[in-house]
Amino acid sequence: MSETVSEPAEHQAYRVEVRAWLEANAPLKNGVDDWSTTRTHVDPAAMLEYYEKCKVWQSKMSAAGYAGITWDVEHGGAGGQSWQTRIYNEESAAFDATNGFLAATIAMLGTALRFHGTDEQKRTYLPKLLSAEQTWCQLFSEPGAGSDLASLGCRAVRDGDVFVVNGQKVWNSMAQAADWGFLLVRTNPDAPKHKGISFILVDMSSPGIEVRPLVQPTGAAHFNEVFFNDVQIPVANIVGEIDAGWAVTKTVLMAESQFIGTGGNKIKVSQRLIELAQARGSNTDPVIRQELAKTYIDESVLAYMSQIMMDAVRSGKKPPIDGALLKLKLAYNRVQTGNAGLAILGAEGLADTGPDSHYAIDEIMNRFSVSIGGGTNEVGKNNIGHRMGLPREPGIGIDTPWKDIPKG
Ligand SMILES: Cc1cc2nc3c(=O)[nH]c(=O)nc-3n(C[C@H](O)[C@H](O)[C@H](O)COP(=O)(O)OP(=O)(O)OC[C@H]3O[C@@H](n4cnc5c(N)ncnc54)[C@H](O)[C@@H]3O)c2cc1C
Repeated sequence: MSETVSEPAEHQAYRVEVRAWLEANAPLKNGVDDWSTTRTHVDPAAMLEYYEKCKVWQSKMSAAGYAGITWDVEHGGAGGQSWQTRIYNEESAAFDATNGFLAATIAMLGTALRFHGTDEQKRTYLPKLLSAEQTWCQLFSEPGAGSDLASLGCRAVRDGDVFVVNGQKVWNSMAQAADWGFLLVRTNPDAPKHKGISFILVDMSSPGIEVRPLVQPTGAAHFNEVFFNDVQIPVANIVGEIDAGWAVTKTVLMAESQFIGTGGNKIKVSQRLIELAQARGSNTDPVIRQELAKTYIDESVLAYMSQIMMDAVRSGKKPPIDGALLKLKLAYNRVQTGNAGLAILGAEGLADTGPDSHYAIDEIMNRFSVSIGGGTNEVGKNNIGHRMGLPREPGIGIDTPWKDIPKG
């Protein structure tokens, strides 16, 4: 928990109030990070149980005014100030109080609706998003459209007041448990690929939706394939303009990248690795010490980058660094932490011998969730380069009608 010495009295009072509420409602972390529980998710029932736990926590936070602290009250928020969010985050870091994957959907859809939604959409969806009364999944990627998302082909044809949707999505995190999805569909195949996409909200219990979990090498099934067979979605569920969903998509992708990058600094992996090295007696080995130092430095650099970024965002200033850099830095940090875990444990780190090796294996495998999810490292670098003024990659399709672009 943070120092309160130099804070204004109002901030100190809020900190005391938040801490008291957390103490009354959540256990302390006791050194174990929420995310280190991923191993238990090998069991689908345990994964769903964890998801339910996150929902309960989100709902408690929301009822107490600690979810969407700066959001408008009519949208389910607390109408508060950005310093309150910072204080809540600082205080809650010490508690086993996670909203898990829900936090990602709140960051993505919440940002999209607040920027692009109609007043009615904001009033309808935002409060239930914050209270976890409605949970969400992202339905963007397709087998032929991941990095090149604008190539997507899931087709929506208008029929009066509804769109009829046919097609397939893939890699959809927690779609097996979500109540609703935010979906990208092709509404105009005659337009260039970025100009015929619409962003639409879909009730996952609609007839014609089939969700098939995908089992990963770890045994977990975090992702799904989602199939749409003549699914009817009201036209009123479009966010933004019909055919102009790419603007909404860009807002989601930016919020996702920023969320992943800034979320990373909450995970104090270096501390866990130091404890592991101490327990194994390798904390005096100079090579291991170097690995631990690298991990600590990487983590601290990311924490500072994240702080600079969040301070700017909360005070309404232009961020001094590109948000996508945070996610890239986290992806590189994850490679380092996996390597450090393996260096400490040696062959045991891969041999599945108990909690320590489970931890190291998770660290090694989890690097891919950050380096691929929300856009790959390579594509992230291309985008940053482009924003720095470098020429775009050569390629076809920017002005060609989507229907005329060769498909793989
Ligand atoms: C943990 C995780 C969670 C995810 N959750 C969701 C979700 O909830 N919803 C959803 O819709 N999707 C989700 N995804 C999917 C994710 O968005 C895609 O996997 C990602 O965009 C990459 O697309 P792809 O898998 O089709 O790979 P591809 O686009 O086929 O890329 C394959 C390889 O080629 C490289 N490559 C491609 N194009 C270029 C280029 N122009 N220049 C250089 N290299 C290039 C890539 O970097 C990559 O190494 C998730 C993925 C992960 C890992």
